[in-house]
Amino acid sequence: MKTCYQTGWLVLALAGLPFSVEAKINVVATLPDFGAIAQEIGGDKVKVTTIAKGTEDAHFVDARPSFIRVLNQADLLIEGGAELEIGWLPPLVNSARNSKILADAPGHLILAPAIRLLEVPSGPIDRSMGDVHPLGNPHFWLDPSNARIIAAGIAASLSRLDPGSATVFQNNLRSFDAKLDAKLAEWDKELAPYRGIKVVTYHKSYDYFLDHFGFVLAGTIEPKPGVEPSPGYINELIPRLKAEGVKLVLVEPFRPRKTPEYVAQAIGARLLILPEKVGGNEKAADYFGLFDYDVSQIAAAMKESK
Ligand SMILES: [Zn+2]
Repeated sequence: MKTCYQTGWLVLALAGLPFSVEAKINVVATLPDFGAIAQEIGGDKVKVTTIAKGTEDAHFVDARPSFIRVLNQADLLIEGGAELEIGWLPPLVNSARNSKILADAPGHLILAPAIRLLEVPSGPIDRSMGDVHPLGNPHFWLDPSNARIIAAGIAASLSRLDPGSATVFQNNLRSFDAKLDAKLAEWDKELAPYRGIKVVTYHKSYDYFLDHFGFVLAGTIEPKPGVEPSPGYINELIPRLKAEGVKLVLVEPFRPRKTPEYVAQAIGARLLILPEKVGGNEKAADYFGLFDYDVSQIAAAMKESK
């Protein structure tokens, strides 16, 4: 009885010190990329769970009910925003009934507002034909220089939730930024010879990557983000891409291969299946690994096609 009483007291005492050595901050990230960066910034002060797999389409994630429980226990939810997760995250958050991660709570971080988004529509928002990018392109984690903004946002949120560990988070942020600077220089150098090369992608996923490294997006296999191509569209696309001298077709691991293979062959371009999220393949095990892999694959393909 005495032991039970003491255990109960201990639990109450720890509840008063929410992020003591024993209790880590429960971070839930919608994408593995945000989760990987949160792990780098939070270190051993956080426990990170990721909802989407690296091999899933971020727009259409399998929102398993087990994530309701995970979100119920979350101290911090990190999402991309710009409607990237709109098809699957809101029902999970609503069912989780956790006031700490509701909109405007300190435990809910939306990254997109801090990022300079590409392809933001200037006129009225057009949701016709099922376009899944109505607020602009939400795949911003693929510009590696945006990782600095993502990491800073995460460090600020963690510091708000656990002010006693703010110094740790700031130190981890400095280390992350230093490693990122070194890697950016390495990646920029590796792809510099191929600036201006024309590329076609399946979805508008790699736009930030292409923008960062100076490639030119000549077209997409989808006529609009989230809309599958018709044979008529592909037949019009091929001669245009051929005329433009497109060298590379980039496709995410989870897309159907038949149409991109057909297009690549028809225009004489190299087809690369390229992860666009951490965990997209075994080499892309963390944020730096993702870019190490993608950059080296593109460089190798371009070297061969010279
Ligand atoms: Zn998209």
